[in-house]
Amino acid sequence: MTSKTLLVIATGNAGKIRDFAGILGTERFEYKTLKDIGFDSDIEENAETFAGNAKIKAKVVAEFLHKKNVEAWVLADDSGLEVFALNGAPGVYSARYSGEHGNDESNNELLLKNLEGIEDRSARYYCALALLHSSTPNNEPEIFEGECRGNIGREPVGNLGFGYDPLFIPNGFSTTFAQMEISEKKNLSHRGSAIRKLPF
Ligand code: IMP
Repeated sequence: MTSKTLLVIATGNAGKIRDFAGILGTERFEYKTLKDIGFDSDIEENAETFAGNAKIKAKVVAEFLHKKNVEAWVLADDSGLEVFALNGAPGVYSARYSGEHGNDESNNELLLKNLEGIEDRSARYYCALALLHSSTPNNEPEIFEGECRGNIGREPVGNLGFGYDPLFIPNGFSTTFAQMEISEKKNLSHRGSAIRKLPF
């Protein structure tokens, strides 16, 4: 019997585990969150790029596992929305654009306000995935990138998804991400596209 490869996803977000398991499958991999491995410290994501923040998370978690002699691949994702007419904002500040971390409604309100009177509403969701093995926590994590291009709508529509999904209309569609089932969003999303590039 061959044992499964352990993948620790450096997140507390169960939705992200579903994204990974949905694409990589459960036959060859066992998935664990930070909570599952007993990691409960806050990681300071203070880099200026998504890739920088993903690397910080992957390194901290790989070191934690290394000290516990746990062999695993660590995957850390950092993602967000970039609006081209706003010079890439909200960018790495996506989760706390309006101040309070994770307040989707006020983030969306602020984005609409900042786009008032601006015709070009093109944007992209971007994801950087950092991959590092716990046996070599001092190595430079490898980065895999994904993006999904689209436009920002005039008002929030739909109640699925999270974050900026009620405003994000992917290119080629007339509906927002918040109107799409996970199975459909998975095929288009920035995270899905980065996950499909992993060398597993
Ligand atoms: P994090 O990578 O979990 O820190 O996500 C950063 C922030 O980017 C989230 O809080 C959302 O505001 C935004 N974001 C990232 N990916 C998505 C997505 O697929 N849909 C909606 N918002 C997203």
